[in-house]
Amino acid sequence: MLTLENTATAAYVVAALLFILALAGLSKHETSKAGSSFGIAGMAVALIATIALALARDIEPLGLALLIVAMVIGAVIGLWRAKIVEMTGMPELIALLHSFVGLAAVLVGWNGYLHVEGDPAGAEAVALAQEGMLGIHSAEVFIGVFIGAVTFTGSVVANLKLSARINSAPMMLPGKNILNVGALLAFFALTVWFVIDPTLWLLAVVTVLALLLGWHLVASIGGGDMPVVVSMLNSYSGWAAAASGFLLGNDLLIITGALVGSSGAYLSYIMCKAMNRSFISVIAGGFGIESSGGGSDVDYGEHREITADGVAELLSTATSVIITPGYGMAVAQAQYGVADLTRKLRERGVDVRFGIHPVAGRLPGHMNVLLAEAKVPYDIVLEMDEINDDFDGTNVVLVIGANDTVNPAASEDPGSPIAGMPVLTVWNADNVIVFKRSMASGYAGVQNPLFFRENTQMLFGDAKDRVDAINAALSVTEHV
Ligand code: NDP
Repeated sequence: MLTLENTATAAYVVAALLFILALAGLSKHETSKAGSSFGIAGMAVALIATIALALARDIEPLGLALLIVAMVIGAVIGLWRAKIVEMTGMPELIALLHSFVGLAAVLVGWNGYLHVEGDPAGAEAVALAQEGMLGIHSAEVFIGVFIGAVTFTGSVVANLKLSARINSAPMMLPGKNILNVGALLAFFALTVWFVIDPTLWLLAVVTVLALLLGWHLVASIGGGDMPVVVSMLNSYSGWAAAASGFLLGNDLLIITGALVGSSGAYLSYIMCKAMNRSFISVIAGGFGIESSGGGSDVDYGEHREITADGVAELLSTATSVIITPGYGMAVAQAQYGVADLTRKLRERGVDVRFGIHPVAGRLPGHMNVLLAEAKVPYDIVLEMDEINDDFDGTNVVLVIGANDTVNPAASEDPGSPIAGMPVLTVWNADNVIVFKRSMASGYAGVQNPLFFRENTQMLFGDAKDRVDAINAALSVTEHV
């Protein structure tokens, strides 16, 4: 029979399929627009079906009003934030959104406890006890609260680090690995205890323990590894949502949570491979990583400076140029000037290509998006592995606002916090020009010996201004 309840359940299946199509679409840039449309449609179906289910289950008018008010407020804030967020602010916004999922899981868990274990004579507790399911419910509450609280504080720290409101260097508490392992063992022991005797104080203890663990796990991870942390927290937020789904008996939440959880875990694994990091070491809060302070005290000697006119002169005699953009290009919004420069040089017969590091900028694919926006042809934008052997024999490399991703310390200094991370080997070219505003270190807080090499010259200033000045100088020589 077609009832509101089973129509809503069928709609959940449709929404789940739309989410799967969204993930498939988002995996390639040609289909990514369709992917996000599937995601939006899936979420709209899910929201409508949730309200329909609530109506079918005779929700009280006050509950329904609260549900609608919360959805409207959430939608307005979401639309406003999405409208004003800068591309460079996306990772910190994503981290903040993950923290909401974690917090929601904690609240759902506590609510589940207060309704069932906290009210043993109530209808729900009696029904679960008769089915012999009370222990399972208690385990779901406890595990959901734990994962949610770890995700919540972990994501808050990630947000603070990504927005530079706290230092991105790893926090090094003495015995940090023992603290992490101890917290996990305590969680297992407390879960068994809670299933046997579900008292309020045990739930309070695990909440505090998980909040501290989440904070410590992410605070212990250095700036260079933050891309993996963001995808790892994405995965945690998925598992937190799935845990809430079990508690609420909501199949769609379980499916969606599992999709987000597993795809986030896989993305973390891919990123770890790209950065030559151990997956286990990063998810265990930088397990085994010991900082040597990044060699900031090392005296690398003097750096040399160059002017925009000097760079224009160098470029006018070059036959091959590689541009390696980084976060600074995004901050300066220099991509349009860079596209102009590329066009000018190609018109003069110069072989211009781009070398893109997998974690350049602050988002996976950040540089590719900016260059595509500025209409740089795809075929000259190459991945790090495709271009790294070609720096040798290249006349000029323009490092535009990149720093960690071109740092030779990653391959030459085993004590560096970014040791082992593959980098663009720009120093093998004949001339390297570094565009930045000062001698400040990059996101990982590590000094860059590239700036002091004999074949490197620094072009100080905002990347957009400097690129525009080079373009102007090249236009003058064009008309002479
Ligand atoms: P970095 O963050 O290492 O360095 C960027 C450089 O740009 C800075 O040294 C800064 O120097 C310069 N800069 C900033 N603003 C401007 C401007 N307006 N004009 C000119 N220069 C500017 O960049 P990379 O892209 O090389 O490396 C990315 C880092 O971010 C890596 O450590 C990566 O692990 C991390 N990360 C990456 C994420 C991802 O998914 N891609 C997510 C989170 C972190 P100055 O201040 O002197 O101008």
